[in-house]
Amino acid sequence: MHFADADSTYTDADYVIFGAPFDGTSSFRRGSSSAPQAIRDESYNFETYNPSLEIDLAELKIHDAGDVETEREISTALSRVASATRDHLSGKKTPIMLGGEHSLTIAAARECAPDWIIILDAHLDLRDEYEGERYSHACTARRLYEEVTRKIVEIGVRSGTREEYRFVKRNKVHCYSADQIYRDGTREIIERLEEDLGDETVYLSIDMDAIDPAYAPGVGTPEPFGITPRDAREIIWRLAPISIGLDIMEIVPELDINTASLGAKLAREFIAAKAKSR
Ligand code: MN
Ligand code: MN
Repeated sequence: MHFADADSTYTDADYVIFGAPFDGTSSFRRGSSSAPQAIRDESYNFETYNPSLEIDLAELKIHDAGDVETEREISTALSRVASATRDHLSGKKTPIMLGGEHSLTIAAARECAPDWIIILDAHLDLRDEYEGERYSHACTARRLYEEVTRKIVEIGVRSGTREEYRFVKRNKVHCYSADQIYRDGTREIIERLEEDLGDETVYLSIDMDAIDPAYAPGVGTPEPFGITPRDAREIIWRLAPISIGLDIMEIVPELDINTASLGAKLAREFIAAKAKSR
């Protein structure tokens, strides 16, 4: 079953959803490979109308391109994600990737070539390598920093090694911890963020473990003291208009189906917020 309200033809579509069912480098709990389908299934729970934004998704041109074939090697998965993203961008569409593990973000973000990459994540993901793999999900932000843009913002962070935190300081990675969001409020953080962003473009990557395990327990590496779904929605609302692409990663549906439901909802909020700004 395709994503709810993704009824447009590919040619007409403004938004293209695609799945990337790959979890080959996952370290703690595997299972994000079944997330794309679970997110699609859960998307049918929601009304087409978004009352907060006054946008009806049934009136938008959304297409579900199905899943890319990722096979077992990370290198294959990355090149398939890259070529899918490239195709969608060349057709002037907004790509929305449903992961799969966070390691795949590098391939989609590189094709989007944004000025900024905004990552929602509990983890810094700034390791140079993990278990011998430089393209591990634990190295996502580091590879993005080295290979796509140095303008990286990490939001919701509460976990990393001493070395990763040193990397943040030394390289001026913009980092807003989950505690900062709790203390100062999302709006305050977004205002600070907007001063940095100006009118530059963004790629938005959501590692679902940014959200507190009380709301999103179905993730590969859950980490307590996270942000709320409302925080994530606020950030999505504000960033969607300037975003070239989006991904929703790291959901493990067999642990908890409501996390897939939340992932589906956040993707829908992104589409509605982007449509609202057109
Ligand atoms: Mn991550
Ligand atoms: Mn994470």
